[in-house]
Amino acid sequence: MIAVVKQTATEEQLAHFVSWIEGRGFKTHVSQGDNETIVGIIGDTTQIDPFLLESMSIIERVQRVSEPFKKANRKFHPEDTIVDCGHGVLIGGGHFQVMAGPCSVEGQNLIQIAVACKEAGATMLRGGAYKPRTSPYAFQGMGEKGLDLLLEASEELDMPIVSEVMDPRDVQVFVDKGIDVMQIGARNSQNFTLLKEVGKTTVPVLLKRGIAGTIDELLMAAEYVMSEGNPNVILCERGIRSFETRTRNTFDINAIPVLKHLSHLPVVGDPSHATGYTRYVRQAAYAATAAGADGLEIEVHNCPSEAFSDGAQALTPAQFTDAMRRIALIREAVTTDLGEE
Ligand code: PEP
Ligand code: MN
Repeated sequence: MIAVVKQTATEEQLAHFVSWIEGRGFKTHVSQGDNETIVGIIGDTTQIDPFLLESMSIIERVQRVSEPFKKANRKFHPEDTIVDCGHGVLIGGGHFQVMAGPCSVEGQNLIQIAVACKEAGATMLRGGAYKPRTSPYAFQGMGEKGLDLLLEASEELDMPIVSEVMDPRDVQVFVDKGIDVMQIGARNSQNFTLLKEVGKTTVPVLLKRGIAGTIDELLMAAEYVMSEGNPNVILCERGIRSFETRTRNTFDINAIPVLKHLSHLPVVGDPSHATGYTRYVRQAAYAATAAGADGLEIEVHNCPSEAFSDGAQALTPAQFTDAMRRIALIREAVTTDLGEE
């Protein structure tokens, strides 16, 4: 349930209302926008009489929110959330960012790839140090050593880093080392223990959609993180499993405007895992940009044929540079105000 507070209400009246609601055993989520203040009420709101709330002098109107996700819901927070990823990089609310880098951190080539990504216009560096591989015999990532290499590159290039955390027991390591953004991979999208653990921090979380996850399941995963107190969630559409076998996954472009409609959280598109093949990645990146994504996550490798993982979908630095120029043009086309609906 949401209660829209009248613009004439004072801070004191608002605080009094919030404590009155909380005193009845509900949780609240206050969103103070430029035009209106909204108090989200979380709990079994069938117990609340909306007419009683509406009769209060500071309440403009009351609306039931039927969706099970509350904190991630745009109805609770009409304005876009802007997530601060560190190093002055903001995402959401008109701030568009591209995270690029290798699938896995492999060693000294990381800095070479990172420099190329930055030169092409990437604003965040991605790289997996802990890798979720289908086979236990495949390269599992460099672990902490990989995080240290990312941190060195981050410092040298003044770029925030994004890296996947797979195990709740590693979350503290990511926090202690100062990893800027923790990625929750598609396979862990419903690992509720992990979601709660990252939710106890304030580190931004790049939350990927599950391999066979619905949009609502992704939003409920975000709710898990947010309900623990971490509001810094970035949603990521990375393709879902379908009956199609010509591509690794099926990029659900629809999900981008749908998520932006349902939620105030930034939405990123990952054309690399969505397609699985270098030859399709750029077109999918353009489509995600045109669909209104707040950012992209793209795998780039200096020598894809030698990559330890996902070489088949990596762009070379030259391909990435070309893509970035076109992405900038598409961004301009979709964000230019033409003065009409
Ligand atoms: C990755 O980003 O390298 C990755 C493993 O992604 P996903 O979880 O989307 O498969
Ligand atoms: Mn990958």
